[in-house]
Amino acid sequence: MFSSRRFVVTVGSFMLTLLVILSVTSPAAAIANWPLVRQGNTGPNVATVQFLLRHHGHSLTADSQFGAHTHTQVVAFQQARGLTADGIVGSDTWTRLVVTLNNDAVRALQTQLNKYGYGLGVDGAFGPGTQAAVTDFKQKNFLGSGSTVGSTTWQALTGGGAGGGYSLPIPRSTLPRSEYDDPHHDYPAIDLPTYTGTSAYAIRGGTVSYVGGGCGYGILISANDGASYKYCHLNSRAVSSGTQVSTGQYIGTTGNTGHSTGPHLHLEVKSGGVLRCPQRMLLAIYDGTSVPSPSSLPTSGCTY
Ligand SMILES: [Zn+2]
Repeated sequence: MFSSRRFVVTVGSFMLTLLVILSVTSPAAAIANWPLVRQGNTGPNVATVQFLLRHHGHSLTADSQFGAHTHTQVVAFQQARGLTADGIVGSDTWTRLVVTLNNDAVRALQTQLNKYGYGLGVDGAFGPGTQAAVTDFKQKNFLGSGSTVGSTTWQALTGGGAGGGYSLPIPRSTLPRSEYDDPHHDYPAIDLPTYTGTSAYAIRGGTVSYVGGGCGYGILISANDGASYKYCHLNSRAVSSGTQVSTGQYIGTTGNTGHSTGPHLHLEVKSGGVLRCPQRMLLAIYDGTSVPSPSSLPTSGCTY
C-alpha cells in the first residue's frame, strides 16, 4: 500500500516534468514553416512579399498577384543577397525580406515631429495623426509627398526645429569656416560670397515676410527664438510671405538682386530691436557647438 502510493507520486512527478518540458518546447514546435510563394500564386502572402519588396526599395504594385514582374523583382532581391535566384520565396528569402517591427522607431519619430509643434502623443502608433504630421513636415521641407520616413527626412527632422537649434544659411560645403568670421562694412551684418543659385536655408524656424528695395529679393524670418533674420540679394524666393518655415528649410537661392555689386548673401540678425553681429552665431553653427542666443550677440565689433 505504502509503496504503490509512492509509485503514484513518482509517476505523477514524472508526468509533471514531462508536462513542463512539453510546455517549454511546444511554442517553437508550433510555428509553421515559411510558406513557398511563387509565380502564379495570389492572396495575402503574395501581397506581403510585394510590400516587403517595396520596403527594400523595389518598384512594384502590391496587387496580391504574383506575376512576371513580381518574379523578376524577387530574382533581383535574391541575386543582390547571394541567394539562390529562383524567384521562389522560401525560408532563405523570407528571412531576408521580413523586418523587425517595433514601436520605438515610431516613438523616435513622434519625438522629432513634436520639435516642430505637432503635439503628438509619443505612443509608438503610426496612426493618422502621426502620418498627417509626417506628410505636412515633408511638404513644408520639400521632401516629397507621402508619409514614408527615409534617411533624408530623418536628417531634416533631427537637424532642425525647437531644441534642434540652428542651421547654416547656405550648404556647409559652399564656404570654408574662415568666411563666417569676416566683418561687414558699415553696420553689424555679414556678407557671404556665394555664386548665384546657391541654396539658402532658414537659420531658424519662423514666419517669412518679403523685403525689397536695396535688399532686392529679400526675405525676413521672424523667428521662434525672438530674433529676426534678414536675407538680401536673393535670386529666387521659394517661400511665400506669411509662410511658416522650419529651421534648415530651403527658402530660395542666393544672387545679386537689389543694391549689390556681386553675387553674395547679405545676412542680418536683429534682436531686441538692434542689429547684432552674426559671426559668433554662424561659427558656432558651423562648428556644431552651443549656439549663443541672438540677444547675447554683440552689437558692435564686427564692422570695418
Ligand atoms: Zn552686406
